[in-house]
Amino acid sequence: MSAYSVIIAGSGAAGMMAAIVAARRCEKVLLLEKLAKPGAKLKATGGGRCNLTNTLDNETFMARFGREGRFMTPALNAFDHDALTAFFRDIGVETHAPDGYRVFPLTHNAETILSALEKELERLGVDVRCHQRVTGLVHDGQCVASVETASETFYAPHVILATGGMGYPQLGAEGDGYALAEAAGHTVTDLYPAMMPLRTKETWVQHCRAETIPKVTIRVDLKKHKKLRADGDLIFTKTGIRGPAVLDFAREVTPLLERYGEVPLRVNMTKGMNEDDLLNHFKTVQNDRRDATTLDLVKTLLPEPLGLQLCTLANADPGLPFSRQPGQAKSDLLKTLAWTPLTVTGHDGFKMAMITRGGVSLKEIRPETMESKKLEGLYFCGEIMNLDGPCGGYNLQWSFASGFVAGHLGRKDNYKRDYSACRS
Ligand SMILES: Cc1cc2nc3c(=O)[nH]c(=O)nc-3n(C[C@H](O)[C@H](O)[C@H](O)COP(=O)(O)OP(=O)(O)OC[C@H]3O[C@@H](n4cnc5c(N)ncnc54)[C@H](O)[C@@H]3O)c2cc1C
Repeated sequence: MSAYSVIIAGSGAAGMMAAIVAARRCEKVLLLEKLAKPGAKLKATGGGRCNLTNTLDNETFMARFGREGRFMTPALNAFDHDALTAFFRDIGVETHAPDGYRVFPLTHNAETILSALEKELERLGVDVRCHQRVTGLVHDGQCVASVETASETFYAPHVILATGGMGYPQLGAEGDGYALAEAAGHTVTDLYPAMMPLRTKETWVQHCRAETIPKVTIRVDLKKHKKLRADGDLIFTKTGIRGPAVLDFAREVTPLLERYGEVPLRVNMTKGMNEDDLLNHFKTVQNDRRDATTLDLVKTLLPEPLGLQLCTLANADPGLPFSRQPGQAKSDLLKTLAWTPLTVTGHDGFKMAMITRGGVSLKEIRPETMESKKLEGLYFCGEIMNLDGPCGGYNLQWSFASGFVAGHLGRKDNYKRDYSACRS
């Protein structure tokens, strides 16, 4: 006889949502968490502000996850961003989208989200046990039977793996779930750290440290990968680059790094201006300010330390008027300003990765229910699966939506009814 109807391993966004949904359906739920408290990563999201979802329609949302994105169709149909914000409203958290796109709790405090989820778990009588690291999944090759931790064995006919990925391991997710999934017969794809700062070969970046350059475009300068590009703000660091544009781009760069050793990039930091635009801009400024030096011209577009570095790269004397630069320096400076070369040589790995690229193969999971095709009674939700989205609330929305579906334990026909029940 089973002590619980469902055991959930991992109390992140996905696991907590799955537990709440299952408990609302009167299931007896055990939520096992290896850390001292639930939701450590959730609390750190959005720089502590928690960008929990965004306002995109499901089609656009899924497209941002790449080829695998369509797997999310049933989950998002069951639980989209409107359903998520309604869910939080019902448990006392108002949300808003100050820029019309990214959704945050009104308090701009991730703690608000976490404590509302914890209160709801308590209200529903979910048995939450911390300091319980799931170490084994017991099955007979067909059905799940129990879950082992270092100290105990817990029995249930349903187990949901919500152990997350491998990024920021100090926040709990260290990849345990992949081994558990493999032991259950699942395939885990190659795993890469994603959404993290990148190191560059160019050491001049250290002189521009902490400069934020708005609205840059980054592209990969490799013949076969010219289409890979990202837009957004870029920040220089002591050893390379970070910032929203880089975070999104990192997921594309890591597999290339492994393949090519280093990845050449081109970065436009001059609001999309090409060489002709730049030359015209310089002429206009020079007409107004006859005594302007080359650096004065560049400073109309970029911060001075960066301008100085780019002049040096192009062998242009920053103190000379642009018209008096040698021809080669002129053309090199325009080229450098239009597409500054940078070379990615590495990163800090999973330690600084907000997301894991790769995970349990989607081919082996039913998208309508999140149930394993390999083992009856086994479910997955959240980052453990082979899906990763960019910055902007994508990954939490996916974690909550897949948690919502997994919490139904295969009874997909009841989504609508249960959603109303959630709201009552
Ligand atoms: C710093 C940071 C900021 C982020 N900001 C945002 C943001 O603003 N918006 C957004 O959409 N996404 C953001 N993300 C990504 C997002 O947080 C994750 O994709 C999401 O939290 C994944 O949820 P999850 O429940 O699948 O996994 P996790 O939140 O990682 O939860 C997994 C849980 O399982 C536990 N666990 C692991 N192994 C075991 C085991 N063997 N036994 C028991 N428990 C176990 C872990 O301790 C953890 O509590 C951010 C990520 C980071 C690191």
